Amino acid sequence: MPIDLIIFDCDGVLVDSEVISCRAHADVLTRHGYPITSDQVFERFLGRSTRQANLEIETELGRKLPEAYHGDLQDELFRSFEADLEAIRGIHDALDIVTQHVCVASSGSHQRMRVSLGSTGLYERLAPNIFSASQVKNGKPAPDLFLFAAKQMGVPPGRCVVIEDSLAGIAGARAAGMAVFGFYGGSHCRDGYAETLRQAGADLLFADMHRLPELIRRAEAKALAG
Ligand SMILES: [Mg+2]
Repeated sequence: MPIDLIIFDCDGVLVDSEVISCRAHADVLTRHGYPITSDQVFERFLGRSTRQANLEIETELGRKLPEAYHGDLQDELFRSFEADLEAIRGIHDALDIVTQHVCVASSGSHQRMRVSLGSTGLYERLAPNIFSASQVKNGKPAPDLFLFAAKQMGVPPGRCVVIEDSLAGIAGARAAGMAVFGFYGGSHCRDGYAETLRQAGADLLFADMHRLPELIRRAEAKALAG
């Protein structure tokens, strides 16, 4: 089966945002009375939904996070993205080379992607094919967002490949019946992370985005031979 569509996750795949995001969460949570380090945010909350994380924190605090927390977090996050965020190394080159259609499927909001993709020169390359979990009923690990993105792009799931760096994303892609490549080149990925992605069911693993066009070609050749 040829591959007609590459669906990219956003955070950790297109933009190197996870370290910045953990730092912003740690700063703002600490400011609002829940002292936590960036490393602790990483260990406890990375890849989990904001809702789940907030519930856990509120249970520990014994009170709701104040209304101002949410606005302060967004301000801090967007300010840090604009100041420090970088595209994943090699992504612009890879996008220059691949011949397939491309789109984005992210758990983050459209507003967040406008800032993160916008500040790295990726927004204008990928818009309007940018889809958010806010457009579907169930976010990752459900297949909904990947199936929605494929449908919008007019490509059947069996001709899509998803590029993901999270366990929830890999589970969602597999549930959607799509091939999935696990990417572990983000600066948040620690030793052993590739193995975690492999166990989650990624079809192959890579850490250098420059290799993507070649990996897609190989996957197509293998499918043809098989
Ligand atoms: Mg991600």
